[in-house]
Amino acid sequence: MHRTVKQYHPATIAAQASGHFDVDSSGVIPGIKLATTYLRGPDYALLSNDNSYGRDDNDTVRAAEETLRQLEEAEATLLFPSGMAAVASVFRAVPNGGRIVLQTGIYHGVTAFAESFCARRGIELERVDVSDADLLRAACEKPADIVWIEVPSNPWLKITDIAVASKLSREAGAFLVVDGTAATPIMTKALSLGADISMHSATKALNGHSDVMAGSLSCLNPESVIWQSIMRDRHDAGAIIGPFEAWLLLRGLRTLPLRVEKMSENALALARFLESRENVDEVWYPGLGSSPGHHIAKRQMRSGFGYLMSILIRGGSLEALGVAGRLELVRRATSLGGVETLVEHRATIEPQSGIPDNLLRLSIGIEHIHDLEMDLDRALKTKIF
Ligand code: PLP
Repeated sequence: MHRTVKQYHPATIAAQASGHFDVDSSGVIPGIKLATTYLRGPDYALLSNDNSYGRDDNDTVRAAEETLRQLEEAEATLLFPSGMAAVASVFRAVPNGGRIVLQTGIYHGVTAFAESFCARRGIELERVDVSDADLLRAACEKPADIVWIEVPSNPWLKITDIAVASKLSREAGAFLVVDGTAATPIMTKALSLGADISMHSATKALNGHSDVMAGSLSCLNPESVIWQSIMRDRHDAGAIIGPFEAWLLLRGLRTLPLRVEKMSENALALARFLESRENVDEVWYPGLGSSPGHHIAKRQMRSGFGYLMSILIRGGSLEALGVAGRLELVRRATSLGGVETLVEHRATIEPQSGIPDNLLRLSIGIEHIHDLEMDLDRALKTKIF
C-alpha cells in the first residue's frame, strides 16, 4: 500500500520508502509479508485480487520495486535474488544465434557468464572497449541484439558516454543495457540518458550494508520485446527475491542518497590525497581531472563521482599486497558499495585477466575521511618501498 510521491526529490522518495507504510497496523514502516500463498473466499474468489501465489505476488517485494522504480525514474522495475540473476535474465532474452556486444574490462562474473552462455546458445559475442566510441561504432556496424556496458567500469573505472552508446546501439538495432552498479540511480539516470535497461547489483550501494544479495532491472518501455521477455523469464523461471531481503533492501534504500553522497565526497577527497602519495603511481577515479573519462563523467553524473576507485601501488603484486595487508581500518574483502571501506587485490581474484598486479581496488565508505587517510598513509609508508 503506498501513496504516490513521484513529484518529490530522490532524498524524499527514498526516506519515505515512496510512501509505503504498514497498512495492517498503520505502522510508519512497511511490514515484511512472508506468506507464500493467499486466501480465497467461500465463492473461491481471491480475498485480494493483487495476491495469489508468492512467486508472483508479494507486497514487500512490490514496495522495494516501487521505491527503486521512482529513484530510477523508470516505468517498470523488477528485483532479482542477485545481480547475476538479473544479468542472466537479460541474456536469456537474446535468441539463439543472436549477437551481443559486451564491454571489455567489466565485472568478471558478467564476462564469465556471457562467454559460457553465448558458447552454449550459438550467440556471437563481440568484446569491445566501448569507452572508445570509434571501437563501439565499428562493433555497431553489424546488427546486434544487445549492447552491454558498465559505467563506471569495475575495476578500470572507465566512463562510457551513455547517450553516444544509445545512439550507436539503436543503429545496430540493439537494446542498450547499462550496469550502473558503481554509480547508482542517484548519480546516473541511465534510462534518461538513453539506456533501454538499467541494471544494478543491489547487493552493493543500493542496499549499502553488505547484508543482502539482490539485483535490479528497470526500463522506460515495459511493452518492449526485451522487457516482456525478461518479465516472462523471471515469472516462469522463478528468479524472485525473498521478502526478507526485499525488506532489508527497502530499509537500505531509505538512506541511499545520503550514503552515496557521503561515499562520493570521501572518495574524491581520498583520491586527491592518494594522488599526492609517493608510493602511489596512479589513481583511477572519474572525479579526478587526470581521469580520461572525467569530462564525460562531469556531464553524466550528479551528486558526485561514485564510491569506487583503483590505485596502482609503486612496485608489483608483493608491494600491493603489502599495502593491503598493513591496513588496519580499511577491510580486506571482495565486493563494494557498503558503508565500510573495503580493499581488494583484484589480480588475486582475476589472475591473467590483464588487471595490473599492483592494482588495489577501493570501495569507499562513510567513515571519517581523516581516519581513512591516516590508515592508507600508514600502510603506504612502510620500508618495503
Ligand atoms: N555488476 C557489477 C558491476 C558487480 O560489481 C557485481 C558484483 O560484484 C555484479 C554485477 C554481480 O552482482 P551480484 O554479486 O549481486 O550477483
